[in-house]
Amino acid sequence: MINFDHAATTPLRKEVLEAMLPYLTEQYANASGTYAAARQTRSAIDRARRSIAEAIGAEPGEIYLTSGGTEADNWALVGALRASNGRRRIVTTKIEHHAILSTCAMLEAQGVEVVYLNVDREGRVDCCEAEREINTDTLLVSVMLANNEVGTIEPVAEIAQIAHANGALMHTDAVQAVGHIPVGLHALGVDLLSMSAHKFGGPKGVGALAVRSGVRLQGLILGGSQERSLRAGTENTPGIVGMGEALRMAVKEMEEASRYTRALRDNLAERLLSLPGVRMNGSRTERLPGNAHFTIENQDSSLLLARLDMAGIAASAGSACTSGITERSHVLRAMFPDETESGLADLRLTLGADNTPEEIESACAVLNRILGESKESI
Ligand code: PLP
Repeated sequence: MINFDHAATTPLRKEVLEAMLPYLTEQYANASGTYAAARQTRSAIDRARRSIAEAIGAEPGEIYLTSGGTEADNWALVGALRASNGRRRIVTTKIEHHAILSTCAMLEAQGVEVVYLNVDREGRVDCCEAEREINTDTLLVSVMLANNEVGTIEPVAEIAQIAHANGALMHTDAVQAVGHIPVGLHALGVDLLSMSAHKFGGPKGVGALAVRSGVRLQGLILGGSQERSLRAGTENTPGIVGMGEALRMAVKEMEEASRYTRALRDNLAERLLSLPGVRMNGSRTERLPGNAHFTIENQDSSLLLARLDMAGIAASAGSACTSGITERSHVLRAMFPDETESGLADLRLTLGADNTPEEIESACAVLNRILGESKESI
């Protein structure tokens, strides 16, 4: 298989699996125990927490481990609201992941006011609109750092300043960014930051919410006193160890990996853009290195994906969570509200450092053939 769907998930790195294995086998003790084996588990979790914190310029005490990006996103919103001393207004964007949008919908049904910011044709939030909408009633602003469909990087640091000037908290869903571009909790000036291990070579089902020291947040998962009594449940030690190791390696190799992936992506984009009826979506400059997103005329998304699948190429039309649904994604709709969708196929190809120039060659040949054939049949 040629994997051009790294935004959906990434392969688990071999070194990460090796780091995890002892905690799936002989080192299985519960970190809450008081005996030697339990203390070893606790140390392993502490080491992983330190490496996660270091990767985003935070303190270990600012990292709360979760079951992934979805939980971190849910928790940021609901936890901030439960700890609020009166404010009940959230400002977010139309292009967030459903982990944010569905939580907002639930909160709206409970009487919380939610404002959804627009984006331009590159998928960028307008800071002037943010400035107009964020006020002293606003409890929390949530803007993703990089979009999972079109790869656009958002002006989170600027919006964080606007949020803070109004006494609001700032959350960013950095699930697609962490491990791929430099991310700093304090450098961005955010209070809450979500991440997920399986997006940077780590295992599925583990992530973290970084909570800037001093921020008031209530727990979402209640029970035992794990994670300083803010996130109950026996720690997923193998997952946490895997996340720490994957992020340590991703940050160490980031510069080289991003240069390599960007070059592959640019080559792929240049070749596809030379085909008739193909346009690229998202920002040219403020973009994740591995993301390429196209709209293709006179094509059908599901058919195109099926033909790529038959040729052994894994790709996507939008986010993985909504694939299988042929409707255009909420992100593309927000970017192109006036565009008639019929006869247009959206295609997301997301590359990683494990892709090769040969894979780009074969994918281009396959796409050339598919698009050429369908042109003849029109
Ligand atoms: N946020 C974004 C931007 C994502 O891309 C994803 C996953 O696709 C998530 C949140 C959810 O993360 P997880 O799969 O770890 O629950």
